[in-house]
Amino acid sequence: MHWLTGPLLFLATVVAMEGVAYIAHRWVMHGPGWILHESHHRARIGRFEANDLYAIIFAAPSILLIFGGVNLAWGTWAVWVGAGIAAYGAIYFGFHDVIVHKRIAHRYVARSAYMKRIVQAHRLHHAVETKEMNYYSRFGEFIFSEPRGRFAGYAWPQFSIHRGDFHRVLADAVHERLGPETIVMNHRCIGVDQDANGVTVHFADANGAALPDVRGAVTIACDGINSAVRRQLFPDEGPPVYHGVNMWRGVSRWKPFLSGATMVQAGWLDVGKMVIYPISQEPDADGLMQINWVAELQTSRNMFADWNKAGSIEDIAPTYANWRFDWLDVAAMIRKPEIVLEYPMVDRDPLPRWTHGRITLVGDAAHPMYPRGGNGANQAILDARALARHATAAADLPAALQAYEAERFKAANGVVLQNRSAPPDAILKVVHEKSGDKPFGNIDDLIPREELAAITDGYKRVAGFDKATLQAKG
Ligand SMILES: Cc1cc2nc3c(=O)[nH]c(=O)nc-3n(C[C@H](O)[C@H](O)[C@H](O)COP(=O)(O)OP(=O)(O)OC[C@H]3O[C@@H](n4cnc5c(N)ncnc54)[C@H](O)[C@@H]3O)c2cc1C
Repeated sequence: MHWLTGPLLFLATVVAMEGVAYIAHRWVMHGPGWILHESHHRARIGRFEANDLYAIIFAAPSILLIFGGVNLAWGTWAVWVGAGIAAYGAIYFGFHDVIVHKRIAHRYVARSAYMKRIVQAHRLHHAVETKEMNYYSRFGEFIFSEPRGRFAGYAWPQFSIHRGDFHRVLADAVHERLGPETIVMNHRCIGVDQDANGVTVHFADANGAALPDVRGAVTIACDGINSAVRRQLFPDEGPPVYHGVNMWRGVSRWKPFLSGATMVQAGWLDVGKMVIYPISQEPDADGLMQINWVAELQTSRNMFADWNKAGSIEDIAPTYANWRFDWLDVAAMIRKPEIVLEYPMVDRDPLPRWTHGRITLVGDAAHPMYPRGGNGANQAILDARALARHATAAADLPAALQAYEAERFKAANGVVLQNRSAPPDAILKVVHEKSGDKPFGNIDDLIPREELAAITDGYKRVAGFDKATLQAKG
């Protein structure tokens, strides 16, 4: 064999393995091999996951080829090909397990645009790229559809992702950029004091036992709708404002529907409304996807806004018993949930200000809003972005807090009010009222398409995601 043939075989094998890995991932691991790969799409408890067995499976041909080449006279080609497979495995482990999933602690941060893109792309492989938002009546009749993200011509995709997976994306990014010690668990903020030089934050653990104070330059309170810091700054405010609607949020494993990446909103609040969309990208071995659904229903069951409060399917099943459409059997799907949580539709009135010297409020602590425009977390992210920009540019941190508030106050409060008066799902209300809650056949006979489009376009402008504004920002 020519001396160059071996190294070339080695390189060709490494390159070819990328194709093999793509095919194996797409059609084996997300097909019959999902039984092992599923563990990789769930939070890992401990050092290993069942998916690690693939390392052994892929190592087998490499070991066999090298053994055969060395001991069974198969020829040196087998050794070079076996070494190429092993080298690809090592590169894959370095990128996938070490860089992306941080299974070995390190401080490497992807800086080049290319690396950032492929690291994020891999993480978001756990998400669905949403194609469209479709509106239907509670009889399953089509009302309106609009493309989303890149399918609507935006430069950016829209993703639907399991909240737990999204938390992992955010936590990984914080660990990478700020260090693993940045996120501290079991610390409930119970109050903040400030003086001319800084702030002192007081904490208790889950049992209420006091923990050591933490001293800092400023406090950024992002402790959600029941914010302890907001309560300290506005002690007379009282509980969130309840408007007589509760949401039952569930995840069911179900067959893909419509495009496989469609968000659906259907019905209306007094007769039962539903928001439904897939949150796992590809069907599992049984052809099922994780489908997120939110049943919204008028009720007087006001309760404390607790993300983790369990809900009962029996409270909603009768309302949706006839929701059996040719594109989705909603009644059957909600009967098989992996989990159901109940949460009240609440917000808070806009505050007169967020910043008090060295303390400011961010996200839901500052401007909790009805989750009717898919915007609460987005507005919190815009807050964080503005805050970070001002913190690096302003003369001092208290000045940065003021500048952040000046930039975000009117815009975020505008979305709070818009979500009360005219959120995008107002399309469903208009149709519900015009049709008298009766089947209407063809939507064009009931209401002009332009009228429906004007509702969602108006919301995009207030929430700041109309295409012209976003593309201009770049
Ligand atoms: C059913 C539903 C659907 C939604 N859908 C969307 C959507 O599609 N798109 C969207 O953008 N938004 C959506 N939202 C809104 C979104 O979830 C919130 O706006 C977002 O989570 C707010 O983020 P945050 O970080 O400000 O607060 P949170 O996510 O509430 O986080 C607050 C954190 O602070 C912690 N905390 C609380 N009190 C303390 C304390 N005293 N000390 C220390 N830590 C504390 C909490 O444990 C929590 O981790 C939805 C909300 C609901 C209820």
